[in-house]
Amino acid sequence: MAERTKRERMKMDRTPVPTRDPHDRRRDFEEVTIGYTSGLAVLEASRCLNCARPVCIDGCPVGVRIDEFVRLVAEGDIAGAASVISEDNVLPAVCGRVCPQELQCEGACVLGKKQRPIAIGHLERFVADHERERALGPLQPPPSASRTGRRVAIVGSGPSGLACAGDLARAGHDVVVFEALHELGGVLVYGIPEFRLPKDIVRAEVRSLELLGVEFVTDALVGVSPTVRELLDDEGFDAVFVGTGAGLPRFPGVPGEDLIGVYSANEFLTRVNLMHASDPDARTPVYDIADRPVVVIGGGNTAVDAARTALRLGGSPVTMLYRRSESEMPARRAEVEHAREEGVEIRHLVAPTAFEGDDGWLGSVSTISMELGEPDASGRRRPIPIPGSKGSVPADVAIVAIGNAPNPILSGTTSGLDVSDRGTIVVDPATGETSLEGVYAGGDVATGGATVILALAAGRTAAATIDRKLRAEVRVSPVASEHSG
Ligand code: FAD
Ligand code: SF4
Repeated sequence: MAERTKRERMKMDRTPVPTRDPHDRRRDFEEVTIGYTSGLAVLEASRCLNCARPVCIDGCPVGVRIDEFVRLVAEGDIAGAASVISEDNVLPAVCGRVCPQELQCEGACVLGKKQRPIAIGHLERFVADHERERALGPLQPPPSASRTGRRVAIVGSGPSGLACAGDLARAGHDVVVFEALHELGGVLVYGIPEFRLPKDIVRAEVRSLELLGVEFVTDALVGVSPTVRELLDDEGFDAVFVGTGAGLPRFPGVPGEDLIGVYSANEFLTRVNLMHASDPDARTPVYDIADRPVVVIGGGNTAVDAARTALRLGGSPVTMLYRRSESEMPARRAEVEHAREEGVEIRHLVAPTAFEGDDGWLGSVSTISMELGEPDASGRRRPIPIPGSKGSVPADVAIVAIGNAPNPILSGTTSGLDVSDRGTIVVDPATGETSLEGVYAGGDVATGGATVILALAAGRTAAATIDRKLRAEVRVSPVASEHSG
């Protein structure tokens, strides 16, 4: 077939991605987005203009060579596309599913000026899935450089820790990841639900790091046993990267937060995702919400995930209360649309003033309506309560998803580690260095709750600094590598 002209490509519509019917999917945990077939992926990739200056790359925090991988997909070379992506992104099947591409690579794509941008996220997911399934296992990683004999401890197995571990292992260092939970992957396994990100995909991507030689230790709470100091002084690590995320939930500080039925989104999602709490025989079940009213407070990805999870557990109705307007909602647009299609009601410009109930059990959420004033520190217009606009929403369960702070366990037991007023570890964003020599940090623990791709980028930045420093300390030679085993 003759190659399409640029003009023809600019006229092509974006290829819709197959997605399950809302009525079928709203009561189960199967993945909602089915993803492109080979034919659809090649069709979508063939819309790319192969720009001389591919601005899409500027929009990618880890700098994936998007133009190149998209061109290879259009040519049907999926293995080639996979190897281009894997040079810069250790979690392509994850990022293809959950990254806010509309604000990043796709937001920058020149096609977006007149048409809809290339579906870079769906193509990245297609490539990663295709290669994983074709290889009947995780992607084979590129070979490591010669061994350096230097040891790095990574604390936390979320995206920042995994990215840091991957780059350091590829550079030839010995890497051990310590994870407090029994499952690896951080928010990717305990927060983001199965219907958006199947856990087998996270496991496969973790497995590809094991094939690179990364060692994983689960149920290890660093800061308690061992401490960061012990890792450096007693356990022979040359550097420590802290990627412990922001897992400490915030509450609005209104009366009734201790009523039975009021959850933090973290607790609710962790119980359902990791502890099979939707099964009534589980050892830590969640409150049975079948046919009971559920209210979710917040407007980010966590709130939308909690609402859609509650819906799948039978909650009815499920209502989200968000104190600003739709355009300020931090959640991904596509997920908000999916939630609505499934039957979640989203009420804007409403905030909770109290949780009410009898005999210790939640029965309703008292609310007040808001209007938007001048922009606040976040750049979004500040919500202001409208006097006399009180309301009440029936709720047997309320799930609070208004943000998280870093857990202070590690910073509290690591003297000399500077922490901000918000509880985040103070880091030089250009290097990942903290106030302590040999200790680096990145991801949500340094920024507060952000995104998977920003955590990956931070892990890679720190890995580059650690690698440079460790190499400056020893001259790495093939002889040294043979002896270091
Ligand atoms: P985390 O993923 O939080 O991982 C930190 C890990 O460190 C955890 O496994 C934790 O158990 C472990 N840990 C903590 N303390 C210790 C300790 N002392 N010792 C050992 N281990 C420890 N982002 C997106 O881009 N797109 C989305 O769609 C999206 N949806 C989200 C949905 C939910 C429900 C949530 C909660 C977040 C979502 N995010 C999303 C945000 C994104 O997941 C995070 O920004 C990202 O996971 C941060 O990565 P991290 O490596 O910094 O930390
Ligand atoms: Fe293709 Fe868009 Fe990147 Fe241009 S900016 S190379 S059209 S993906």
